[in-house]
Amino acid sequence: NIDTGVHAPLAIKQGLPLPSHPRLLGDLLDRSVARFPDRAAIDFMGRITSWSELGVAVDRAAAGLQALGVVKGTRVALCLPNTPYYPILFYATLKAGGIVVNVNPLYVERELTHLIADSGAEIIVTADVAEIQARVLKVAGETGIRHVVSCPIADVLPALKRFGYRLFKRKEIGRARATPQHLYFADFMKLRRSPTPVPVAPDEVAVLQYTGGTTGVPKAAMLSHANIVANTDAMLIHVGGETPDQDRVLGVLPLFHVFALTNVLTFSTLVGAEMILLPRFELTQLLATLKRTRPTYFPAVPTIYNALANLGPDERPDLSTIKVCISGGAPLPAEVRHAFEANAGAKLVEGYGLSEASPIITCNPFEGVNKEGSAGLPFPGTTIEIRDREDPSRIVPAGEKGEICARGPQVMAGYWHKPAETEAAFADGALRTGDVGYLDADGYLFIVDRIKDMILCGGYNVYPRVIEEALYEHPAVVEAVAIGVPDAHRGQAPKAFVVVNDPAVTGTVLRDFLRDKISKIELPREVEIRDTLPKTLIGKLSKKELVEEELRKAAR
Ligand code: AMP
Repeated sequence: NIDTGVHAPLAIKQGLPLPSHPRLLGDLLDRSVARFPDRAAIDFMGRITSWSELGVAVDRAAAGLQALGVVKGTRVALCLPNTPYYPILFYATLKAGGIVVNVNPLYVERELTHLIADSGAEIIVTADVAEIQARVLKVAGETGIRHVVSCPIADVLPALKRFGYRLFKRKEIGRARATPQHLYFADFMKLRRSPTPVPVAPDEVAVLQYTGGTTGVPKAAMLSHANIVANTDAMLIHVGGETPDQDRVLGVLPLFHVFALTNVLTFSTLVGAEMILLPRFELTQLLATLKRTRPTYFPAVPTIYNALANLGPDERPDLSTIKVCISGGAPLPAEVRHAFEANAGAKLVEGYGLSEASPIITCNPFEGVNKEGSAGLPFPGTTIEIRDREDPSRIVPAGEKGEICARGPQVMAGYWHKPAETEAAFADGALRTGDVGYLDADGYLFIVDRIKDMILCGGYNVYPRVIEEALYEHPAVVEAVAIGVPDAHRGQAPKAFVVVNDPAVTGTVLRDFLRDKISKIELPREVEIRDTLPKTLIGKLSKKELVEEELRKAAR
C-alpha cells in the first residue's frame, strides 16, 4: 500500500531535463574543474582558490593519503572548521578510495573517542589549533589512528584569535614525538605527486555521518556517493536549474554537518559556484562577509536568520543579490520567517531533512505557495509517507498525524555496523525519521515535533513546538525552547526557557500571554528567562543540556 504516499514530480519545472551528472563525487569535482577552471571555487576570508587549483590540490592530497596507506574503504576522519582544507581533504579522501568520517572539531574527548573507535578511522586530518590538537592527539594515541595531518589555519589567525584560539607552531608539531605519526600539511602534500585511480561504485559508502538519531549514542549514517549526488541533483532541480552567471554560496554552516555538506560543498561543485567559507558563525563577521561577497545563495539554520531578523534598521545587511535562503535543521518559527523577509527583503523557504537522507526530504517551493508552518513538498524524487506510530505497516490518510517516513535515492542504506538499529530505522523499506507530522490535502508536510522531544503530560502528548511557536508570537521573545520536566502528578510537565529583548517582560507575563493561545495542558509550569540558550555547533537550539539540568534539579 505504499502508493498512498505523496510523490514529488521528478522535475518540478516542466521541460527541465533529468540530471545526467556523474554519480561519483570525485567525478563531480573533475567535471567542474574541466568546465570552470578559472572560476573561483573558494573564497576564504578574501583568499581565492580557483576550481583548477582546487583540482590540483585534491589530486596531490589524494596521492598523499595513498602514500599514508589509504586504500579502498579506509576511513579518514576530517576534524576541521570551514577552511579550504575541508573541500581539499573531502574530495582527496574519496579519490584515494577512502571514506570520509565527519567530525565536529568541538567534540569533547569522549565523543571524539567514540567516533574514531566506532568508525575505525586510521587517519585524522585536523587544524593546527592548540585546543583541537590537544584533544585529537590524546584520542589518536588511544585509538587506531596511524597518522595525524595538521593543516595550518594561520591565515585566519585574526578571526580565530578573537575566539580565543592559540595556534600551534610548525616547529612545535615537529617536536611532538608522537605516535601516531604527525605530519604538517605542506609536508603531507609533498609525499607523492599523483594518485592511483581507485574503482568505486556509486552505491559504495562515501561519508560516515554521525548523528544522535533517536536513541542517544551517536551512530553513523552510511551515505553513498549516489545518495549525496542525488540530493545535490534534487536541489538543482528544486532551484530551477543552472544559471549562466556564477552563483556564490555562503558557507557559514559547518561543512562537517550534512546540511552544508550537500547545500554548500557538493551543490557548489555541481554548478561550479564559489563557496564563501566562514570558520564559524559570528554575527559581525557574517555581516562583513555578506557585504564584501554579496552571495546569491544562503543556506542556514533558524538561529542565524533569527539573528539577522533582529538587527536594527542601521545594521541590516543588503541581501538584494540573494536568490535563495533555505532554512533547515530545525523548525523555522513563522515569526522569524516573517521578520527576516520583512527586514532583509529576501525570500526565505523552509526545508526539512536529516542526516540519514543526505539530508533534504521536503522543501517549500521558491516560486509558488509556501504554506504557513509547513516544511514543504517532497523533494524531487522523494516519496513521503505518514505511518501509524503504533502500527508502522499502516500508512495513514492525509490530515492524520503519524511518523514521517521517506523513500528516495538520497536515503542511506543503513547505519555503519549497526544491523539492529538499521532494521529499526525502516518500515517496509521507508526511512523512519523519528518525527511526527501530517500531510495536508495538497501534499504539504507539517512537522508536529520530534518523537523524542514529545512531553508525556498526564496521559496527553504535548508537542513542545506548539508552545515555542506561541511564545515567538510575543514581540519581546528572541528565542524560545520548551521541554518536559519531571512532575510529581503528571509524570512530565512542560517548561519553557526564553531569551527576551525587553527586561520588563518576565516569565509570568509570558505565561499569561500563552493562556489564550494554547491549551491548559500545554501551558508551561514555568517560563524561565535566560540570557542565552544552549545551541549545537551548527546553531540548532539544543534541548539536551536543559533537560539534563532539570533532571539534576529534580533529583536533588
Ligand atoms: P540531524 O540529522 O541530527 O541533523 O537532525 C535531523 C532532525 O532535525 C530531524 O529529524 C528533525 O527532527 C529536525 N529538523 C530538521 N529540519 C527541520 C524542520 N524544518 N522542522 C522541524 N524539524 C526539523
